[in-house]
Amino acid sequence: MPARRSTGRDPLRSARPAADPRATTVGVDLGGTKIAYAVVAADGRVIATHRHPTRAERGADAIVADLTRCLRECLGPRGRSAGAIGVGIAGQIDARGVVVSSPNLGWRAVPLEFLLAASAGLPVTVTNDLRAITYGEWKLGAGRGARDLVCVFVGTGVGGGIVADGRLRYGATNTAGEIGHTTLIAGGRRCHCPNRGCLEAYVGGWAIAERAREAVAADPARGRRLVRLAGRAEAISARTVARASAGGDPLARELVRTTGDYLAAGLVSVANAFDPARIVLGGGVLDGLPSLLPYVARRVRGAALGVVARRLRILPAALGGRAGVLGSAAMARLRLPGGI
Ligand SMILES: [Zn+2]
Repeated sequence: MPARRSTGRDPLRSARPAADPRATTVGVDLGGTKIAYAVVAADGRVIATHRHPTRAERGADAIVADLTRCLRECLGPRGRSAGAIGVGIAGQIDARGVVVSSPNLGWRAVPLEFLLAASAGLPVTVTNDLRAITYGEWKLGAGRGARDLVCVFVGTGVGGGIVADGRLRYGATNTAGEIGHTTLIAGGRRCHCPNRGCLEAYVGGWAIAERAREAVAADPARGRRLVRLAGRAEAISARTVARASAGGDPLARELVRTTGDYLAAGLVSVANAFDPARIVLGGGVLDGLPSLLPYVARRVRGAALGVVARRLRILPAALGGRAGVLGSAAMARLRLPGGI
């Protein structure tokens, strides 16, 4: 086995042998409605996949039993020969892989990493889903080769992950990367966290819908098209705004532009605080509004500190619908013997 180049930062680790590049890992995207699995090679090649509904109401023990059975049976021999398992979950996960809270699953204080490792007999890592996706984008996607990278995913909520100086950042409580809950406007819009004025409270899917409904209530004549598309004012969603904007509706276009302005303002702070070489943007809201990324990129480059802006590239996420399983499988490689 060839000797690995020492980074000089972690002599104990760098003295260990490298993980077997032939070993496969299983990535699991454990969501509120479905569980997706993939057996993945070191280079990101997907070897086998499987998925089934979550039915989270059955409780954590039933889900652990499902996971173990699917690893052994549904994924075939490549699943059985995998060296480690990575699980990504939307929610707060502590450093030991305990799901502190996951609203999508209705879980609190579930020691999933321990339960699954005991049941499956393999090393397991349980991670926040967007942290896992960040890691996947870094190793296999739009962040490949970068030492400094921030991923920001704008979906219903806003989350992300940070790679600094060539290392994924975890933080003191395993919460690093919650960029959605950085303050954009002191005393601003109420967030789902204890704070007010968070980035997510302006650009998250739920917040876009809320802002759109308020704009319609304030000016029903301008909001007519949004109401018609949604059926009724209370049903207006971020998707309604995207559709109306694509159709040229002035109010929807204004909502999209202000969303871009808020997101750019948040990303200027990210750029200046972390000095990343790349910011990778993804998530359902950005996928639904393809004009947003170039707009935001232009504004960030215009407002970030000069040296930061000159170096910075702002790119779309590259892993698409498989990001969850690929990212979790990539993180599982850290649990292989000799994994780094
Ligand atoms: Zn918040």
